[in-house]
Amino acid sequence: MTMSRKNFLKALGLGFLSTGAGKGLAQPSASLEKAKAEASKLKITGVDIYAFDIPLKEPFKISIGTVTAANDVLVMLRTDAGIVGVGEACPFHPITGETQEMNLAAAKGLREIVLGKSPLAVESLVHSFGPFLHSNPSAAAAFDTALYDILGKIAGLPLYRLFGGDKPSFGTDITTDLDEPQKMAAKAKEYIDRGFDTIKIKVGQGQAADLARLEAIRQAIGYERKIRIDANQGWMPPLAIDTLKKMEKYQVEFVEQPVLATDVAGLKAVHAASPIPVMADEALFYPSDAVKLIKEEACSYFNIKLMKAGGILNMIKIAHVADAANMLCMVGCMVDSRLGLTAAAHVVASNRNIVFADLDGHSSHTIDPIVGGMLFEKGQITVPDLPGVGADVDPVFLKKLQKI
Ligand code: MG
Repeated sequence: MTMSRKNFLKALGLGFLSTGAGKGLAQPSASLEKAKAEASKLKITGVDIYAFDIPLKEPFKISIGTVTAANDVLVMLRTDAGIVGVGEACPFHPITGETQEMNLAAAKGLREIVLGKSPLAVESLVHSFGPFLHSNPSAAAAFDTALYDILGKIAGLPLYRLFGGDKPSFGTDITTDLDEPQKMAAKAKEYIDRGFDTIKIKVGQGQAADLARLEAIRQAIGYERKIRIDANQGWMPPLAIDTLKKMEKYQVEFVEQPVLATDVAGLKAVHAASPIPVMADEALFYPSDAVKLIKEEACSYFNIKLMKAGGILNMIKIAHVADAANMLCMVGCMVDSRLGLTAAAHVVASNRNIVFADLDGHSSHTIDPIVGGMLFEKGQITVPDLPGVGADVDPVFLKKLQKI
């Protein structure tokens, strides 16, 4: 059964929203109880799961591993109202330990959890994902994103508006992965020429090589543009402290995850001694990690990611925990397509303490199979003014995918 948004809102007793009636003090045309009863009838009636692969232009290398493709999972939640929600899992094995195969298996389990349920009850549904949130956060993120996509489509609002946001455009950095210093410098220069004013530089491969990287990049781009660095757990605490002191002269905005994800004491020691602010990334997956890191005073900033947090709900919770502690955050990514990136961008657009963005995951992709979605131009991201996430998979591309 398919239904227009107007008729759907009428069925919910919220037809006044589609007609423009009820100006001034809005008076629902039907009682709230009736609306709630109608809403409770909305059900998820189908879940399509696809293997969703996008080759990279060249291998993407960080200190703890290399990836050659985005081997993702695409999830489409179908409802009896004809509204479809879309979400992406982008498992990045070096960081979350997940693979596409694991996410596909988890998606089948998550399908059983959501089938027959109301997609509007996002909060309780995401909680009912249970252990999947921790064993397969990227698969959970795909389902969470698809649920929010449905919620936004029913409300007729882009997610950032649904969340009360007011900054649909914001700046992002772009990342140079690990390579020879001169090659990284050439890439950084190319990005500056393309209009980016902040470059993120992967480090974490030994002090001499890392210092050579920063030296070459500063020589190539000068000191007017910002650089931030990411060691991806590549240093032991004493080496991190010594290296960061030697890097101070390169005017680094912050360093992501200098030490092992599990070494909170080490992160705290580096944070206390480093002249460069420290951002937790791999040490922060879930809201509970945020509480722990704040209690321990282990870092200056958080890097929140859709695929680590297990979805938008947990991303927002982390941002709110951080806000209560006066902490600023970044939203980062794996090698997500513009579908996952757009979902994450709505979270940036709706949280005042998310002041940094690193949403360039698709920039290394050979193809862009997403229609709609965020704009990514000259270091600026703009989220779409469309209901829900506002991004979908190109139907021609979708036909080529293998349904699981
Ligand atoms: Mg990082």
